[in-house]
Amino acid sequence: RRVLYEAAEVQHVNAGGKVPLGLQRKSLRILVTGGAGFVGSHLVDRLMDRGDSVIVVDNYFTGKKDNLIHHFGNPRFELIRHDVVEPILLEVDQIYHLACPASPVHYKFNPVKTIKTNVVGTLNMLGLAKRVGARFLLTSTSEVYGDPLQHPQAETYWGNVNPIGVRSCYDEGKRTAETLTMDYHRGLGIEARIARIFNTYGPRMCIDDGRVVSNFVAQALRKEPLTVYGDGKQTRSFQFVSDLVEGLIRLMEGDHVGPFNLGNPGEFTMLELAEVVQEIIDRNARIEFRPNTEDDPHKRKPDITKAKQLLGWEPRVTLRKGLPLMVADFRHRIFGDQKEAAG
Ligand code: NAD
Ligand code: UDP
Ligand code: UDP
Repeated sequence: RRVLYEAAEVQHVNAGGKVPLGLQRKSLRILVTGGAGFVGSHLVDRLMDRGDSVIVVDNYFTGKKDNLIHHFGNPRFELIRHDVVEPILLEVDQIYHLACPASPVHYKFNPVKTIKTNVVGTLNMLGLAKRVGARFLLTSTSEVYGDPLQHPQAETYWGNVNPIGVRSCYDEGKRTAETLTMDYHRGLGIEARIARIFNTYGPRMCIDDGRVVSNFVAQALRKEPLTVYGDGKQTRSFQFVSDLVEGLIRLMEGDHVGPFNLGNPGEFTMLELAEVVQEIIDRNARIEFRPNTEDDPHKRKPDITKAKQLLGWEPRVTLRKGLPLMVADFRHRIFGDQKEAAG
């Protein structure tokens, strides 16, 4: 196993060389599965910025090379087209395991593939962690709470999940991934970390992933009606991506296995979200009601007491501050694309 702090190999990775030489941290080699996706690419940016070497493994199901293009040519960066359902041999110090379709539209597209990615893919990455002695972080989800009967949801809540529903490939898949992670940790001594991520938004989200924030923003920009499913009174809590990345890194670097809820406790109904989008993009945007999808959770809001206490982490970016940053990125991609199509 590679020693994390080794005087001979110390690089200037901390505070631009201001940290005394003896205390500087050795540069790590870090695997990010799913690193070409939305959250993964922002995480890679942070890890590259602090001077580590990053290997991304991604099958490009929903991820794009474009999200990482700014690192091409950097000798500390490697991108491998690979499906985590197949084994892979690599030598790394840490593994951030994100590879998995994340939006309902994508994970329902091929449910068997989704559950294989969660189960076999996670097993392979745990096998890799075991072989090389790497620390392993699983990005689980608030969906492990299902349609929760406890509100807000604390990590101690075991959830209310339909095991045979259309979302099960994702939520039961992630629950199994958590089980595998804990069994490798307890049984085989793997250093493990588990994050339960709540709805996250920001630049580089897939424009057509069907998630509510990307739908509303794209619809308002395209002058289409905002599609509210059901009565619009169901709630979600929306976290800006930079807050999530900070939480993931703190969790990986800290001493606690978790699971930890990582989310923004600000709770909005879908109608309230539509109003915020109207305020920011287009006051005249119309709202159109559509039938809701099956098994849609009615309420979701994280209790983040544990992450506050043990990781010293809490989100900083409110929806009204974060949304305009995503709108700028969507505007650029939507209208840029249209110009290209016209040309
Ligand atoms: P995303 O779809 O943008 O990223 C997922 C990445 O994994 C993509 O690049 C995709 O190509 C890759 N991938 C999928 N299956 C793969 C496979 N079999 N082998 C290799 N690569 C594969 O989604 P995201 O929002 O960035 O989500 C990242 C992680 O965070 C996921 O594990 C997701 O379950 C979790 N999460 C996200 C949210 C959120 O709101 N964004 C909420 C809860 C949990
Ligand atoms: N694995 C992998 N890369 C490695 C080590 C293991 O992809 O560097 C895979 C391996 O092929 C197996 C899974 O991880 O399918 C679990 O490995 P482990 O060694 O824990 O179990 P075993 O191979 O003994 O069943
Ligand atoms: N939703 C909506 N309009 C849309 C897309 C989604 O009203 O165009 C609703 C959906 O029914 C759900 C909520 O928004 O209640 C969040 O959906 P999303 O797919 O973003 O995430 P998840 O259900 O995984 O939390």
